[in-house]
Amino acid sequence: MTETQKPAQTGIKVIVVGTGFAGLTAAIECHRKGHDVLVLEKFPELKLLGDIISFGPNSSRLFRRWPGVAEQLEPLSMRADAITLKSWKGETLFTQYWEGEDAEFGIRYDGHRGEFHEVVYNHAKEIGVNIRLNARVEDYFEDEKEAGVVLENGERITADVVIAAEGVRSKGRKIVLGFEDKPKPSGYAVYRSWFSADEIAKDPDTKFFTEGGDKHVAWLGPDVHFIAACMKKGKDFSWVCTHKDEADIEESWQLEAPLEDARKVLEGWDPIVQKILDKTPSPLIDWKLVYRDPLPTWISKGRRIALIGDSAHPFLPTSIQGASQAMEDGVTIAVCLRECGGPDKVQEAVAAFEAIRYERVKSAQKTGEQTRDIWHKADFEAAKKNPESMRLRREAWLLGFDAEKYAEDNYGRTVEVLRRTGLQDTSEARKLHMPEGKHGYLEYSTGTDHKGTDISAAAHAVNGTVIS
Ligand SMILES: Cc1cc2nc3c(=O)[nH]c(=O)nc-3n(C[C@H](O)[C@H](O)[C@H](O)COP(=O)(O)OP(=O)(O)OC[C@H]3O[C@@H](n4cnc5c(N)ncnc54)[C@H](O)[C@@H]3O)c2cc1C
Repeated sequence: MTETQKPAQTGIKVIVVGTGFAGLTAAIECHRKGHDVLVLEKFPELKLLGDIISFGPNSSRLFRRWPGVAEQLEPLSMRADAITLKSWKGETLFTQYWEGEDAEFGIRYDGHRGEFHEVVYNHAKEIGVNIRLNARVEDYFEDEKEAGVVLENGERITADVVIAAEGVRSKGRKIVLGFEDKPKPSGYAVYRSWFSADEIAKDPDTKFFTEGGDKHVAWLGPDVHFIAACMKKGKDFSWVCTHKDEADIEESWQLEAPLEDARKVLEGWDPIVQKILDKTPSPLIDWKLVYRDPLPTWISKGRRIALIGDSAHPFLPTSIQGASQAMEDGVTIAVCLRECGGPDKVQEAVAAFEAIRYERVKSAQKTGEQTRDIWHKADFEAAKKNPESMRLRREAWLLGFDAEKYAEDNYGRTVEVLRRTGLQDTSEARKLHMPEGKHGYLEYSTGTDHKGTDISAAAHAVNGTVIS
């Protein structure tokens, strides 16, 4: 189907709340599949917010299905041929090349969140997705026949299905869980910065970042890591630093912190890190990581409201999968709604969406735990002897996955089980979708450390997200 051909209309009315990557993907895919979709976003206008974000091969392949989008993302993307892992003192531990992965699974898109978002948002508008800005959703409701939202101004809007894609501070969680879900401080935060690489290029000690292609380097220390990237042919520079933080505040992308705060955290680190800090404009973004208890379900009792993306499952930054899994959710729910056959069957589609996604997302979350444990608890002497142990795990079950095709191929058998077991219980149907690694069902066991502490519990605290 070309974008100029209108898809057959399904007659299903969908409200999507939020224009993050989860919401935009759901909206674009619902539109492409013939649903009648309205998107509601609280921001009054589009702004270039954020800094570095990563889309793995599993979500990048979805961008390539949207005419013109990949072509616009390409010049904005980092094209480093490898990531180099160093100890905080500056010793090189391991260089992980991407060539094989690109050939096997396809290329990734890593770049500025605001720039990528603008491309995808404009694409949604161009193909005719109806987006209402300045529309803050305050509440959700549903009954036997429909679901809907209440806006800040009291306006009520109804549809057959509501997709809540409002990120980590989702209001949709209340109707899904039956109680207010409050985030908790994790004790960790991330300093973030994005700036012109001009000064980096002038210094003989840092100019290697800007020469001979894009560069990606991570420095690992006890409970802290610092990752720097130079992209767009030496034009833009970005770094993030995950560190301990005791402040008890709500998560926001717009908090500021003086550069001096990062200097204190990184005191005594590799001189190259110090040089990067010298060239970094102050203030930084200080993103406080919060965590939440795992959600037992992502869908409402009436099966007309679904949480997707960060609303349902915030990810550890070290998983490098949060945005990708958000996009996979978006395309999956759009496929399920098409496969269900019409407005009177949407509850089956919503239940099937959860069943198809739940175990895969859980396993993907666990990869972030694992990497975080490897990085933050590294024994550098052991790592020097076995540098491969520091490698980021990049596995076929995760990166080679085509969420759209999977949902198309598996909708029927999922609904068969749901019809047998009842739409109120998705547990049997979830079991159909356990991701499989080389040796059968994947279990990302993180085990215990030398003191017998459950490392996975420590991982929750350090990264501040939901891992079950
Ligand atoms: C401004 C911003 C900047 C970010 N920058 C980065 C970054 O630099 N790097 C990175 O890795 N991740 C960043 N993230 C997070 C990242 O985008 C997500 O983790 C991931 O892409 C999953 O996206 P999502 O769509 O589930 O949630 P989000 O990206 O958080 O999107 C949620 C959307 O819902 C809207 N919304 C929230 N509440 C309501 C409401 N009540 N009514 C209507 N609309 C509502 C929000 O304004 C937002 O547009 C950022 C998120 C935001 C919102």
